[in-house]
Amino acid sequence: MSVQSEVVSQLRAALNGRVIVPDDKGYDLARTVFYGGIDRRPQVIVRAVDRNDVLQVITLARQAGLELAVRGGGHSFAGHSLSDGGIVLDLRELRALQLDPERRTAWAEGGLTAGAYTKAAGELGLATGFGDTGSVGIGGLTLGGGVGYLVRKYGLTIDQLLAAEVATADGQLLRADAETNPDLFWALRGGGGNFGVVTRFQFRLHEVPSVVGGMLILPATPPVIAGFMAAAEAAPDELSTIANVMPAPPMPQVPAEQHGQLVVFALLVYAGEVDAGERALAPFRKLATPIVDMLRPMTYPEVFVPEEGEYHPTAVARTMFVDTIDRNSAEEIVSRLEASDAPVRVAQLRVLGGAMARVPAEGTAFAHRASRIMVNLAAFYESPEERVAREAWVSDFAASLHQGNQGVYVNFLGDASEAQVRTAYPGSTWDRLSAVKRRYDPANLFRVNHNIPPASP
Ligand SMILES: Cc1cc2nc3c(=O)[nH]c(=O)nc-3n(C[C@H](O)[C@H](O)[C@H](O)COP(=O)(O)OP(=O)(O)OC[C@H]3O[C@@H](n4cnc5c(N)ncnc54)[C@H](O)[C@@H]3O)c2cc1C
Repeated sequence: MSVQSEVVSQLRAALNGRVIVPDDKGYDLARTVFYGGIDRRPQVIVRAVDRNDVLQVITLARQAGLELAVRGGGHSFAGHSLSDGGIVLDLRELRALQLDPERRTAWAEGGLTAGAYTKAAGELGLATGFGDTGSVGIGGLTLGGGVGYLVRKYGLTIDQLLAAEVATADGQLLRADAETNPDLFWALRGGGGNFGVVTRFQFRLHEVPSVVGGMLILPATPPVIAGFMAAAEAAPDELSTIANVMPAPPMPQVPAEQHGQLVVFALLVYAGEVDAGERALAPFRKLATPIVDMLRPMTYPEVFVPEEGEYHPTAVARTMFVDTIDRNSAEEIVSRLEASDAPVRVAQLRVLGGAMARVPAEGTAFAHRASRIMVNLAAFYESPEERVAREAWVSDFAASLHQGNQGVYVNFLGDASEAQVRTAYPGSTWDRLSAVKRRYDPANLFRVNHNIPPASP
């Protein structure tokens, strides 16, 4: 019997969840992730259904010396939820959610999506802030930080994390919170999947019975872009914004003559009273005659744009932080976007600050608390040749906007060298993370991620 078939038989005997191998029907679907162009062939995919399955897979992968990849929502830009030739521990069936409206807390299993959580909590007028897309997994999103529509009001997702239940490399199930294993709790809040598999997260719920916001599309001229950023910085903490400068998509809401024209495709969320929200949104509406103005009072889950099921884009991207997007930077953005012929290309601008910036940089493993604006530049491509050109474009674009901040947001990093991963963890953060890694995963079992190798003894 080969090592592989022995491991498969052991897994089948020990687990409640499905064990999928290359010959099985459904194998290709099971190894499909959000991004296209990622073609890795694991020997085994396990769809765990409970904590016991998680612990067994960890133990068997360690004993058999097989590479272990952990899959939450499958949205990693680098394809980190897949292994080539190893085991994938797929958490998608672990999606139970217990909401406690009285205590304003929720326990969510590690394979749940942000959208499913947001919808269920929204029915009670409650919310925890995740990102801008419902299909993203709470697992990867939370462990990297989590920047979304409530970031200025309630901070990063990790700032709303109260506790986690973690299956570690030695096959134990540990609790991590401010008092219990506080070093692990610190590292989980930004350090990614390096320290174990989070089977459950406990979050704080906030009362968000309604918001004012939605989609606003404006013409993308340099004064509008710079004005948008100035208004977003001056806005109260209740307002968080995402401005995508991009060619207008052919949506039914967008007039046909605007399709393909450069626009500021903005999503805005004011989490507070309706009148105050309307006042906070007024400066954005005055920047230019809107092409589309769908800003209105709505429930928080309604903010999320519906997604297409079988959408697997291939893209190149750069993540960075800047201090300001002034008129000069706005001109640069417009001219760089105009110079490219990629059908989808975008400069995404998110003003940070507010509650996120009030947490000390050393308080969690996400250290970019003082960074003012997060920028994500991306271009889609179709062929390998096209990829080379898009890569060059996105690199030059990033260099032209650079303002000296070397930091990056780990959740928007693609395939990265150790040196690049280090830029996500500036100052003493890296040393502290590698010391925690040595304690909880000394043999680096959890290495299919933006890896933090264990510190040497
Ligand atoms: C369309 C899109 C929109 C996005 N929008 C935002 C946004 O608004 N804000 C933001 O902050 N980020 C955003 N992201 C980035 C996103 O947070 C990261 O890609 C994140 O890693 C995805 O998590 P996942 O669980 O879906 O992915 P996966 O690929 O399944 O996992 C990513 C990493 O996390 C690990 N992991 C996942 N779950 C667990 C777990 N339970 N325990 C241990 N390790 C785990 C995996 O092993 C892997 O290393 C977006 C990404 C996409 C593709």
